[in-house]
Amino acid sequence: MNRPILPGATIGVLGSGQLGRMFAVAARRMGYRVHTYSPAEDTPTGHLADREVVAAYDDLNAVADFARRVDVVTFEFENVLSATTECAARYAPVRPGGEVLHICQHRRREKNYLHDRGFPVTPFRNVDNLEQLRRAAGELGYPAVLKTAGFGYDGKGQVVVRSADELEAAWQAIGQVEAVLEAFVDFQREVSVVAARGLDGSFCHWGVVENEHRNHILDVSTPEARVSEAVRKQAIQVARGILEALDVVGVLCVEYFVAPGDRLMVNELAPRPHNSGHFTFDASLTSQFEQQVRAVCGLPLGGTELLRPASMVNLLGDLWGAGEPDWAAALSDPAVKLHLYGKAQALPGRKMGHLVAFGNDRDDARRRAIAARNALIKR
Ligand code: AMP
Repeated sequence: MNRPILPGATIGVLGSGQLGRMFAVAARRMGYRVHTYSPAEDTPTGHLADREVVAAYDDLNAVADFARRVDVVTFEFENVLSATTECAARYAPVRPGGEVLHICQHRRREKNYLHDRGFPVTPFRNVDNLEQLRRAAGELGYPAVLKTAGFGYDGKGQVVVRSADELEAAWQAIGQVEAVLEAFVDFQREVSVVAARGLDGSFCHWGVVENEHRNHILDVSTPEARVSEAVRKQAIQVARGILEALDVVGVLCVEYFVAPGDRLMVNELAPRPHNSGHFTFDASLTSQFEQQVRAVCGLPLGGTELLRPASMVNLLGDLWGAGEPDWAAALSDPAVKLHLYGKAQALPGRKMGHLVAFGNDRDDARRRAIAARNALIKR
């Protein structure tokens, strides 16, 4: 059962976005075949896969047929129904397992799971109705953030509540659904740890990455976050504990807030390669994508050393506002690498690609990454 799945075998990926695309690059480079499954066609992963299956996630006949033709199933998109992973698991190992997905695809289940096991999370309360919301806000104080328990609810996921007067409107705004109320954290930094765990329980990580968001979307990620040694150690230790508790085989990212006084709190988990680990593709001995291949195939994990100081900036669809970005201008810095995901339509807020820049140190790399992105729109 636990024999490695060797090159030449076929890996099935649920989901078809950029994470699957980069996974497919890593898998194909190592001689694996890749099948992708999602409801969309002509997808970022499909462009690189050996086979692109277009079917709904709840079409269990199609899921069974997909799983029968692969040696292992993994995913790049966690909002797949439990029925889908359970169905796939009848025909091929699913790594990480369906239980990991089940917990991580639901904010409330995830927070309760972490809290119950003693991992540090943002103070929160479960909320099912307006009455409970009032009580929770009384306990946590203001400001607070009301978030839907499930993800992807019509883009209406989060509302900041500043006073008791705003509670009712906030409850309406999120659609009066199962939710959590979180204390608003006046954080100093947002950081993440992308980590991987092998079939044999081996563990590795790419250090603590510092993340800057714009409009709630990741904007810049720079490895070797400016945090104290105590926070660095704790972030890695917590990540390790979470991967072990969940018995993850694959890659998982833990996103944190660092609050004043070096208080570290988990914000959320992603049970797959993460945007804040994209720099590893160019800058690390083994990328998060290659590591996912190695982990789910039961191979030894590769080294994760950072080869050179680097920084990553996202390229959102907004950059296309004035026409095609000036790629040559961005690449005029020879230390810049361009990644584009092959998406046909550049919509505002849509992740179209990213740039990675190298530098003499982390600040230099960050500056060069941002300068290269700015060059895209300066003509
Ligand atoms: P999330 O979708 O929960 O990761 O939230 C997206 C972003 O909103 C985070 O990366 C933070 O920048 C911000 N945010 C979310 N929750 C909180 C909170 N409790 N306190 C402060 N900022 C938050």
